[in-house]
Amino acid sequence: MRARLRERVRAEVPKFELPALDLEGLTDGIETDLDRNLAGARDRIESTFDARLSADQRALLDTLPERTTLYDAAGFDVAHAAYSKKLGVDRDPDAIAFVDGDRVHTSRDDAHTLTHEAIHLVADDDFTKFFGAAINEGVTEYLTARALEGDAAGRAELSSAFVARKAAYPDEVATIEGAIERGFVDRDLVERAFFTGDQVARAKLFVGLERAGVKMDGQVAKDPAMADVVRTLGR
Ligand SMILES: [Zn+2]
Repeated sequence: MRARLRERVRAEVPKFELPALDLEGLTDGIETDLDRNLAGARDRIESTFDARLSADQRALLDTLPERTTLYDAAGFDVAHAAYSKKLGVDRDPDAIAFVDGDRVHTSRDDAHTLTHEAIHLVADDDFTKFFGAAINEGVTEYLTARALEGDAAGRAELSSAFVARKAAYPDEVATIEGAIERGFVDRDLVERAFFTGDQVARAKLFVGLERAGVKMDGQVAKDPAMADVVRTLGR
């Protein structure tokens, strides 16, 4: 029964696939801390979420430098406009970085931004589609803070980021932290649902967040029949 439900969830939540962007010719050439902070992002994600990461996810992290392009402001505008057009959405003028397929595009080279984007890079492909963009950002930034807390450079970055930029997605992070603090979901479940693509973990996270009163706008929440299947699997 469970296996059949799992198959159904898998069949009805298709892979999120778009053609790769052709951004050849947009170069970075900026003097930065990029390499050091990319190595830091890889190390802290690997050590914090060690048990969760597959060989493929580790390989992505190990090749982070070659997957990352740092742009100047004008270059990032062009890249992000192309990405927004590809998604068919209006460009968010406040965006500072994004992940497209297996590549990171960023206008900043600080440890916080790069750790956040590297976590997006190794997220399970269907997580956003399943839960919606707000939950994806909330969980990504929650995990980013967890990873940064693990080392001195990260902690310094985190406190300066909280003071200077008030962190990324504060409302979305508060939603996830609130659901954890009130016992509707736990860290372990959040990590499994986010990194491994385990359908049961994802269904349990959906049920837990729903019980916590969290609004979700992913494909599952928008489809009542699908939501029922997920609730059965997640109970
Ligand atoms: Zn993000």
